[in-house]
Amino acid sequence: MTRRLGSGSLVIATHNAGKLKEISALLEPYGLTCLSAGALGLPEPAETGTTFAQNALIKAQAAAEASGLPALADDSGLSVDALGGRPGVYTADWAERQWFEGQPGRDWFMAMGKVEGLLQQVGPDADRSCAFHCTLALAWPDGEYAVYEGTAPGTLTWPPRGELGFGYDPVFVPQGRDRTFAEIDPEEKHAISHRADAFAKLVAEQFG
Ligand code: IMP
Repeated sequence: MTRRLGSGSLVIATHNAGKLKEISALLEPYGLTCLSAGALGLPEPAETGTTFAQNALIKAQAAAEASGLPALADDSGLSVDALGGRPGVYTADWAERQWFEGQPGRDWFMAMGKVEGLLQQVGPDADRSCAFHCTLALAWPDGEYAVYEGTAPGTLTWPPRGELGFGYDPVFVPQGRDRTFAEIDPEEKHAISHRADAFAKLVAEQFG
């Protein structure tokens, strides 16, 4: 049986303030006090894994070891069937403007264009099926861990549509809908997203 968290402190292994806020709001109703890896001054390990689960575990285990507390980390991205699952764990990297002079940053339009360009190379009838994935990893300082995988299946559309959301939302049409994640109300997105799916699995096992 998987170990359960109980109440107490949990380190959220992220240096991203938005993620920390979202994850804390989801877990605090269960009596957990969420602390951020950034505020604790914990180092950010390199994400050298080749799967979402490996990367989430690298982050959670590093934070648990460094803090002596249980830690939670996530890793997410988009997998396109006709591209053999790419960009996958490299979803954020595909938006890096490495060659761009001036401010480093991420260009999501460029990243969406790269995915579309590769699909067009596959051919006009390329399968446009894809899925967003979110993996949550919980790690305890003694090495025990649990992993929860969430998915949101859908299809890719082109050109991008909608102003809401972030990342690849404007090209992702969730299964059973005709609007993109960037066109639907954020609350509606949160109800069907890969993150919601992963959190539902974590909550069911840890607090159910
Ligand atoms: P990470 O989990 O912070 O490593 O980021 C993975 C990348 O996947 C993000 O930077 C986004 O580009 C993409 N991604 C993950 N979830 C979503 C989503 O809900 N909508 C759009 N893009 C997403």
